Amino acid sequence: MALEFTVTERADRASDAQRQEVLANPGFGDHFTDHMVRIEWDAEKGWHDASVAAYGPFQLDPAAAVLHYAQEIFEGMKAYRHADGSVWTFRPEANAARFARSATRMALPQLPEEDFLQSLREIVSIDQAWVPDASGGAETSLYLRPFMFASEAFLGVRPARKVTYSVIASPAGAYFGGDGIKPVKLWISTDYARAGEGGTGAAKCGGNYASSLAGQLEGIAHDCDQAVFLDSSTHTYIEELGGMNLFFVYKDGRIVTPELTGTILEGVTRSSILELAKDLGLSPEERRIPIQEWKDAAENGELAEIFACGTAAVVTPVGELRWDGGSVDHRREGHTDEIATKIRSTLLDIQYGRAEDTRGWMTRL
Ligand code: PMP
Repeated sequence: MALEFTVTERADRASDAQRQEVLANPGFGDHFTDHMVRIEWDAEKGWHDASVAAYGPFQLDPAAAVLHYAQEIFEGMKAYRHADGSVWTFRPEANAARFARSATRMALPQLPEEDFLQSLREIVSIDQAWVPDASGGAETSLYLRPFMFASEAFLGVRPARKVTYSVIASPAGAYFGGDGIKPVKLWISTDYARAGEGGTGAAKCGGNYASSLAGQLEGIAHDCDQAVFLDSSTHTYIEELGGMNLFFVYKDGRIVTPELTGTILEGVTRSSILELAKDLGLSPEERRIPIQEWKDAAENGELAEIFACGTAAVVTPVGELRWDGGSVDHRREGHTDEIATKIRSTLLDIQYGRAEDTRGWMTRL
């Protein structure tokens, strides 16, 4: 049976003027709406106490299992305001399904899809005023962050018998600032892997992001924006970035992305692009891609474009690739990001209701 949500507390954390100021320039992940959703789970009662209350800190026992054993998962999605004022989200069933897979991997309870979707409706309905107006082509949205963590207080390694689910929301501006889309420079991390075989790479759990940070720092130290992670056993095959999947577009029309091996996160944007590619006359392929193929194809001119993709930035062109001892750049004189730009605008047009949603990807919140 679906959970009933109760609004236990209403809050007005910001005046209209303060909210408008934030919405005029939201940045990313810096500001939060007035409310949060919360649902409790325990081994006896299952999911219960579904509430909407003022945004604020959790009271967490210092022995809460999440703080010690990192039993935690999350999702990331966006609510988009359409021209008629209605608010929609993109393929939420895919996020609900991924959340359920992540839960299973981390020995957390599964939240039924209908409760996951209802939790998004609850936060968006009470915090409507925080969904930015995206008229005039502004790429603004309300970023939604569902998450679940082990809240039971105990020391000992076993699945927690008390778990908390929550959703917070954060108004988000265009990922790229005023100077437009800038290609990211990537660093091949060979000292550090993000995920290993049999590990948690395919789950969206906090630990994966913690383990990506050292590689990320190494990249920054080499004047790169982000690290690209290779398979941890052979350091041969391309996996993904710390928070985005990768696509390679060849001049002969192939568009290739690393296949899902269990160590890569199955991005909703990635799977959407695999479907859209055919409409754009491209031939999508999922397979293992040796890092050497990137280096060779960039040198011999076979690569047209490389881009990264994910909910936050949608599609981001990739520029130079650097590693310990060398670099390649597939971008030559006359280079355009034609395919990346086309895919980006196709996705954005669907998300913002400017194009017909022929695949039924949009859900009204
Ligand atoms: N890979 C990782 C590691 C990520 O964190 C994300 C962001 N969720 C992605 C890929 C892209 O996934 P999505 O398209 O669902 O945002």
